[in-house]
This record gives sequence, structure tokens and C-alpha cells, in this order.
Amino acid sequence: MPSIRIEIKGIVQGVGFRPFIYNLAQKCHLSGYVLNDTQGVEIEAEGKKSDLDKFLLRIKDTPPPLSQIERINVKRISSRGYQNFVIRQSEKKEGETVWVSPDLATCDDCLRELFDPQDRRFGYPFLNCTNCGPRLTIIQDIPYDREKTTMAVFEMCPECNQEYHNPQNRRFHAQPNACPVCGPKLTLADNKNKVLNTTDPIDSTIELLKDGYIIAIKGIGGYHLACDATNKGAVSNLRRRKYREDKPFALMVKDLQTIQRFCHVNQLEKKLLHSVCRPILLLKKKKANLIAPEVAPLQKNWGVMLPYSPLHHLLLARSNLILVMTSGNRSDEPIAYQDEDAFQGLRDIADYFLTHNRGIYRRCDDSVTRVWNGEEMIIRRARGYVPQPLKMQSTFRKHILAAGAQLKNTFCLARDDLAFLSTHIGDLENLETLEFYEKEVERFKKLCSVQPEIVAHDLHPEYLSTKYALSLPHLRKIPVQHHHAHIVSCMAENKIGRKVIGVAFDGTGYGEDKAVWGGEFLLADPEGYQRVAHFKYIPMPGGEMAIKEPWRMALSYVYYCYGDDFLNLDIDFVRRLDLNKCKTIKKMLNQKINVFPTSSAGRLFDSVSVLLNWREEIHYEGQPAIELETMADQKIKRGYDFEISREQKMLIIHPELLIKSVVSDLLNGKKKSTISAKFHNSIAQIIAEICFRLRKEYKLSDVCLSGGVFQNVFLLEKAHKLLVKYKFKVYTHHRVPPNDGGISLGQAVIANQRI
Ligand code: ZN
Ligand code: ZN
Ligand code: FE
Repeated sequence: MPSIRIEIKGIVQGVGFRPFIYNLAQKCHLSGYVLNDTQGVEIEAEGKKSDLDKFLLRIKDTPPPLSQIERINVKRISSRGYQNFVIRQSEKKEGETVWVSPDLATCDDCLRELFDPQDRRFGYPFLNCTNCGPRLTIIQDIPYDREKTTMAVFEMCPECNQEYHNPQNRRFHAQPNACPVCGPKLTLADNKNKVLNTTDPIDSTIELLKDGYIIAIKGIGGYHLACDATNKGAVSNLRRRKYREDKPFALMVKDLQTIQRFCHVNQLEKKLLHSVCRPILLLKKKKANLIAPEVAPLQKNWGVMLPYSPLHHLLLARSNLILVMTSGNRSDEPIAYQDEDAFQGLRDIADYFLTHNRGIYRRCDDSVTRVWNGEEMIIRRARGYVPQPLKMQSTFRKHILAAGAQLKNTFCLARDDLAFLSTHIGDLENLETLEFYEKEVERFKKLCSVQPEIVAHDLHPEYLSTKYALSLPHLRKIPVQHHHAHIVSCMAENKIGRKVIGVAFDGTGYGEDKAVWGGEFLLADPEGYQRVAHFKYIPMPGGEMAIKEPWRMALSYVYYCYGDDFLNLDIDFVRRLDLNKCKTIKKMLNQKINVFPTSSAGRLFDSVSVLLNWREEIHYEGQPAIELETMADQKIKRGYDFEISREQKMLIIHPELLIKSVVSDLLNGKKKSTISAKFHNSIAQIIAEICFRLRKEYKLSDVCLSGGVFQNVFLLEKAHKLLVKYKFKVYTHHRVPPNDGGISLGQAVIANQRI
């Protein structure tokens, strides 16, 4: 009998691969075995040549839907004389490992059971199978087996046990397998941690939600804070208790039909909403709708997701509620995921806690994504996406850790031709987040089998990620400029290695000259970059304060443009200025005390936003720019005049004309929606104009757009359209965030080039 050994690598664990192989082997009349090891799946099969061929073909053509085969190695071996086909116990091997699957939304088969009164799992909020359920968030170690998950403490009842060991069953080796007899259970408690005496915690929770209470609900990667999204009072309460003035909340909605009552949804958006990743999707608001405006004030979009755990399905199906589902955390801390911490941290916010006894091993936020130009553009990459690696065009010569940036941090681990982007860690600005970061680096190293010899980090000496990287002993440190990392991140995900024109627009990034960069044109490849154009340096008074209180930066702009005459401008912005504070800032600017030169595009957007609509302080990163985008009138095609000068090899974009045009339109009583649109159009035209000149000079015609400013879809669309019109090949972000959440990937690729 011919015999072969097959080794399969990729996402092949926790996705029903072994039962698939087992059943296929039966159909093909083969004997042998299949097993999971740290390397992937190993198979030995023995049978007729034609059957073996059929077997291999089927593995390649129709693998389980959630698997991702990266490599298949087939070797002839001597005949073993197997009697039948079996599934063998996992073996622990050293070396390279398989990829762990992300957490997966409840599958259709499980949903049918969940709502079938005849089924033994009817209404059971923890049902799952090999095609769905928690993965990353419950796995403590590899290989993926029940004893190495937080399900280890639940002993399966005879019925579950039978399913688990029956290769024909959908729950064969489904590690989180459970039922009402043997599995995790719900409890509902008040915020004094007193368990409520209720026969059905879900029904009781629904009643409480309908009464306007705020409930902390334990989910897959952490706790949510939930309330009725149509109840103004409840939403305002949540805002007040969470100290979250106007940063948008996400919604969870029963089904597509309900979503369509208040959002526009296109085909791809439908697909993303229903994908196993179940991200929060940004969808365009319909004009009139029943959602309380406080959910997402001054936004064009609602952030919406469909239910992804059986508990969510039950809550929504039984109630028809539209829920606010926002991360269960206090202001800027990471999402709470351990019961005791969650209770301590959230009891002043939540009235009740709907919780359960299945442990969450690692926290994982909801992902946020959107559709742009017929493709996905991810904004926050977390649950459902992590830890799926990104396949790179070139191979990493060494194991690399890339520490990431400061805000919206992710880090990246790299080996072979794979880049593992960590889950969204958050802003490294408090102890809790930093602890999460350091702990997750260690855990993620184990999960991805990466032992870094190199650590890449940002140039900014004050980033906590930089400090962390520099503190690591025995690792070679490679510093990477922020905007270079942005551009190479975009190049890497689009698999381009040749030199490009990189347009990196964001809020802040440390420049080689120690200035605050953020409106940069680079000729870049992974090896290096040349800065060839940027916005003119304008003094940023008070550094960070100019970001938190954007009127300071706007003041700097008008002072730069008009000198002291700006005080005579008859515009709302000037009338609102506190003259004492104004004096202080002028003094800072004149004497250059605590001012930092910046070319940041983000600050320019902030300033124009504040000129149009006064804002004392911001409540979340990028808020003024988002509000400016929301204001813009799509129909306006014109822009303002602008000025570009040349200083030796460098092109400088001057802001005077732009700012003066905005002010003059304000003085003439033009609509804000028009002014905002004209400003956006000008920036798009500037991008196109500069790229046009650069192509002439350097013969490059690929353009990468990266940096947080390009989350602004109004700008992105306009810039993209113009560049395409000028026959540029334009690359943007899809699978990696354009914001600082994508920095770590660029760092890893650049470090690899520098080794
Ligand atoms: Zn399932
Ligand atoms: Zn059971
Ligand atoms: Fe950035």
C-alpha cells in the first residue's frame, strides 16, 4: 500500500480541521492518523494511489471554512500497515508553531440549536462548536487543547463528552464545548455584588435595560457597558458616569433589517457585518432615526455590530432592543476582563452586572472597521482578526519585536514571512495600559513562537513603547522614524518593495530634526527614506496642550498669518478667545518659550475645525478633524488657492493662503459646510500637486497614503480620485490601520531591512 505523510501549516487548529481530515479519510478509504502538534497538523495516510490523490485534492480545495492553509508538505513514506484511521493525542514539539485562531462569531448551526426548543442547548448562552466560539481569549498555552484553556475547570458531562470524542460530530474536539448541565453559567448581580434571585438572568437583564439601567455584560474579550440606545436618559447617564463627553459609543443590533432602519448598508458592508470577525462597522447614518443622538454626537456614522456570542443573540432576540455596547473601562484604561477588576472598576458606572464563570485569559477589544472605495479599511484591529498573521512578501531574517507607537498602540512580532500584529493595546498613557502591554508582549511571544533578537522602536524618546524597547537587555535596538514606519506599513500590506512617494499625514511624529512632523512627503522604501516635502513649520505653543486645547494651535496659525491684527477679525473664534490666555500664548510664541515647530497636517485640520466651530478642549484624539469632516458638503468641488515654495531640494507647503481664505469666507458669511469642503479639497489638490512634481523629478509613480489623517474618508476619496486622474498608482490601508495602530508593522519591516 502506498503511504504518505502530510504536514499542514497555517490556521488549522480550533477550526475543525481534524474532524474534517478524519471524515475525509473515511470517505477515501484510507487508514492512518491525524494529530495537532505545535507545528500544525500532521497526517499519515495509507491507501490506494487514486484515493490518496483524491484525499490531497480535497484538502487543498475544500478545507474547513475557517482554516487558512499556508503550506502543505507531502512526503512518501514506507508502508506502516495501519488498520484504521484515528485521531491521535496532541504532541508537544519544539520550534515553529501553528497559528491560533481568532475568536469566532456563533455559527448558523449553533444558532439553530440556540433557538430550537427541542434542542438540549436551547437558550444556552455558551454553546459553540468547532466552527465557532471563543479561541484567542481563552487559550493559555499551545497546542490548543481543552486543558490549556479557561474551559479546563469544567468537566464535560457524558453527553458533551460523547460529542467531543465522536469524529462525526460537529463538536468533535471543540475545546470550549459545553451545555447547560456541565458548562459555564450566568449570574446577575447588583453593583454591591449581591447576586439577584432570578430564574432567568437574561430576561431580568432585558427588563432592567428597558427600565433605563446600565448593565456591565461580560462578553468574549472583556466587559461591555450596555444600555438602551433609544433612551436618551440612559445614554446620557452612561456618558456622565464614564466621564466620556462625546466620543462615540458602539451599537449592537439584532439583525440587518433593524440596522437598515437607521443606517445605509451596501453589499460589502453586509458581508463584513456578518463575517466571523463581527467587527464594529462604521455605517452612514440615515437622517431621521430612533437612536438617541447622544450615542454619537457630531458624527456622520454610527458604529454598529451584530451579536457575536450566544449571550448577545439571546439578549437581542428576546428584547428587540438596540443596545449601546461600549468597552467596559474607566475613561482611558484598557477594557476590564477579570471579574474582580471589572466589578471594582465598573461598579460606579454600571447598575448591574450580567456575568459568568468562564474565564477570559486575555482581553480583546471589539475591532472597528469601515468600507471605503469598495474595500475594507480597518481602524482598530482586535477581536476576530488577531492573531491572524499577515503574510509578507519577504522573509524576516531574524525574530523581531516592533514596539509600536504611543497612541492606539499595537506591537508586532515577526518571523519567517509572517507578521503577527498584536491586539489593540490602547494609549500608553497610564499604568494599567502599560502593564497590559508588557504582559501581552510576553504572552504573545509564546503564542506566536517568536523569540526576538531585534527590537524596533520609534524615535520619540518619551514614548513608553520606546522606553520599554530600550530597557530590554540583550536585544539589538533599531530606531525607526514614525512616518517612515507609516509608509512602509502601507507598502508591506500592499506587498510592494520598490520605492514609492509616501504621503504620511497624521497628528504627531518625532522628526529627525526633533521637530513635530505630521504633514510629510517621503520617497521611501524599507531601506530608508528621503523627506522631500512638508507643511511649513508653525510653532505649536505648549506642545501637548496645543493638542488637548486646539484653539491654542489655531491661535498660533492666525497670529502667524495676521500678526496682532488678528484681534480685529470679526469672527466667532476671536470673540471667544480669553484675552489673558491669549496674551500668554503670544508671549510664548514671541519669546519661543515652550513652543515646538510642527508640520503636522492633523494640527492644521484641528485649527481649521476650531476656526469654524469653537472648541475649548478635545475629548478624544482627532475629534476636531472628525467634526470638520462631518461638516463638509460633498457637493462642493472647488478648493482654495495654495502656495508651494522650494527651499533647495525641499518643497514647502505654506498655510497662509489657506487660513486666510477660510477666515475671509467666514467674514463673508459663507456656510461652514462649504468652507470645510473647500479646505478638504485644497488639501487633496496639494497632495496631487506635490506628487505630480515629485514624479517629474524622481520618476516615481506609486503613491502610498498613510497616517491617521487618512481615516478622513472625505479627504481620502478626493486625494485618491485626483491621483488616479493624474495616472498614479495609489495604495491605501485595508488590513492594517492607517493610524498609529499600524506603525509596528512598518517598524518590523524596516528593522528587517537594516539587519
Ligand atoms: Zn457553532
Ligand atoms: Zn454537557
Ligand atoms: Fe502617526
